[in-house]
Amino acid sequence: MSVVNHLDTKVMIGLEVHTYLHTKSKLFCSCGTDIIESIPNSHCCPICLGHPGSKPVLNAKAVELAIKVGLALNCKINKDFFFSRKTYFYPDMSSNYQITQYEVPVAEKGFIMLGEKKIRITRAHLEMDPAALVHPQGLGKSNYSLIDYNRCGFALLEIVTEPDMVSPSEAREFLNTLENILSYLKVLMPNTTMKTDCNISINGGARVEIKNVSGFAAAEKALSFELLRQKQYERMNKKIEQQTRLFNAVTGQTMESRKKETADDYGYIFDPDLVKISLDEEQINKIKESMPELPLQKKQRFVNEYGISDYESSVLCNDLKLSELFEMLAKKQADIKITANLLTRDLLSILNHDSLKLVEIQLDVNKIFDLINLVKLGKVSDMNVKKSLINYISGNKISPIEFLTKNNLLVNENMDIDLIIKRIVENNLSAIKDYKNGNEKVLNFLAGLIMRETKGSARIDVVLEKLKQKIN
Ligand SMILES: [Zn+2]
Repeated sequence: MSVVNHLDTKVMIGLEVHTYLHTKSKLFCSCGTDIIESIPNSHCCPICLGHPGSKPVLNAKAVELAIKVGLALNCKINKDFFFSRKTYFYPDMSSNYQITQYEVPVAEKGFIMLGEKKIRITRAHLEMDPAALVHPQGLGKSNYSLIDYNRCGFALLEIVTEPDMVSPSEAREFLNTLENILSYLKVLMPNTTMKTDCNISINGGARVEIKNVSGFAAAEKALSFELLRQKQYERMNKKIEQQTRLFNAVTGQTMESRKKETADDYGYIFDPDLVKISLDEEQINKIKESMPELPLQKKQRFVNEYGISDYESSVLCNDLKLSELFEMLAKKQADIKITANLLTRDLLSILNHDSLKLVEIQLDVNKIFDLINLVKLGKVSDMNVKKSLINYISGNKISPIEFLTKNNLLVNENMDIDLIIKRIVENNLSAIKDYKNGNEKVLNFLAGLIMRETKGSARIDVVLEKLKQKIN
């Protein structure tokens, strides 16, 4: 659990996650959503601009995707729902109201499992995205802003949780798990990020909302800062006010933005331009039948089908691409144990180190397969497996085998390891005395020297075994 959370503080965290659904056109009009590199305000029409008299028409694909998400999150799907107008004045919404769902969302009362713990989902509702405000010299530096309505009217699905999370790190784990489920469903609009409103209160006090946090690490940081701030207020007997705050990713701090509006301020009213939606059983069944395998199901299947551990299976299935890569290799009859090890340990640590995601890089499954076979034949040491992968992933795209061959890093059967060990031992007699006096660390030190001599091409287990025999 969290390192910030003390036993005496009861922390309640709830999240509102905004995700873009992958639809070809906007939520209520036929304007296209392929806006990357397009001229600002080139993908708009009277409907998404909210001209008087224009009539919105609901995008059926968006409803289908929202229901898919609802089912994957174990929600009850509402067969009858409608849309409301959330009134507010701001230039990003030229109609002065956002069309959203308030009274009856498309899905509600679900949950996500984080290991053994259940995080309840309050609701998932559809709404239109506002326009983007562009600050030509950067936020807070320009004395004017530009507005691009290309994004206005994109289909958003807002997923709201109950305040069931007890630490910032748990909130981050929730976001990762949710994103993984959505990636399995293939419902996310490419090149978009999930934005989160983070709600946090301590010891039953006032709830503070940190608006619009972009990215999961940022959400964790924002919540951690806010948790510390609230604890400090409590210690100083200062009142924690219910308020909306903003997170500054550069300073890592949150600051007050405005007093929070309540539902009454928004004056929700039923949108008379949109008819009430009534889904029939058959439509929902059809969507149910089209549901793909989800992370938890896949995790169980991998354990049963390939005999890997629960841990390895969870690591693999926490990333759709990684699980797909594993299965491709397994189908090619790669050694399962080595494959699981290589992907969950070596590959993942390289990706994490460079903050990369597998989906962002091109891997040739055949080249990984060849590397796994080399490992199986004992032709390459762990250290050099990793080196060759780093080299393959980080840019120059030389296949692992080519890299190992070129740099002479394959295990050399003719290399006389015994001779190298003998030399190292003779040159380090005082260290060996230390070892005999009980300093176990010396063994690793000497093994390191030997590995260096062999350019890492020897197997560390063999080296350690022979070294022990030699010394004792
Ligand atoms: Zn439009």
